[in-house]
Amino acid sequence: MPELPEVETIRKDLTKLIVGKKILDIETDSVKQIKPSLGVVKKEIIGASIRKIERRAKLLQIFLSSGKILVIHLKLTGRLLVRKKGAIRDKWQHVTLMLSGDKELRFTDLRKFGWVKLLQDKKELEKILAEFGPEPLDDLSLKEFKAITASTSRAIKVLLMDQKKISGIGNIYACDALFLAKIHPGRKANDLKEDEIKKLFRAIEKVLKAGIKYRGASDQYYLDALGHKGSYQDHFLVYGRAGKKCFGCEGKIEKIRLGGRGTYYCPKCQKQ
Ligand SMILES: [Zn+2]
Repeated sequence: MPELPEVETIRKDLTKLIVGKKILDIETDSVKQIKPSLGVVKKEIIGASIRKIERRAKLLQIFLSSGKILVIHLKLTGRLLVRKKGAIRDKWQHVTLMLSGDKELRFTDLRKFGWVKLLQDKKELEKILAEFGPEPLDDLSLKEFKAITASTSRAIKVLLMDQKKISGIGNIYACDALFLAKIHPGRKANDLKEDEIKKLFRAIEKVLKAGIKYRGASDQYYLDALGHKGSYQDHFLVYGRAGKKCFGCEGKIEKIRLGGRGTYYCPKCQKQ
């Protein structure tokens, strides 16, 4: 699933590529991915211009000149691609926004779990965003991070990925941040010591910044808005590296399951 760095890369791309463009039409062969319905969305967005693109957690928000907002969640396999009108159809292309300047914004999605939702105003958006926790690199402070970890005995990795508690961190960046901080992913969150929490807080910032710098991780489906791969997968610390040599010691990276997700760590560097 695209995480904060991947969605942020797409947001930056879209800001360059489609802000100021007018929406001419919308097409889909997958109506269930459009909310509340294709008819309503069509009626409300045609003729509006794209004013700005924002992101919170893994949600992209396209603000329109009419005051309405299109919110997009890419879920597991969604991509947003900006193409020239008439360019060869993309694989798994299910929603297309026709834009002025002979451009198209294409939503492609193999698994079809992603969605596009029209909101009437900022109030409606705030209601949705209220369900997400604070975000690293934004409004998550060390003080609040301490309070969040102290509040539960769940495994620290599972907590990091809980979007209600903290926004934007998924499996990749949770694994890599815990390795950097030398914390076992299965440790109870409220058992972490003060200096470990500090280290982890900095490690989260560091791996997310690296993810943004390398324009996301394309180990699976993720592509940027121009259809190019990111390269954070070439810089994974432990994620996806089971059996390979640890960068911190002579040991090997292991894979376990935690909270139903494949979890990578070094048993020597990250003691239980
Ligand atoms: Zn190690």
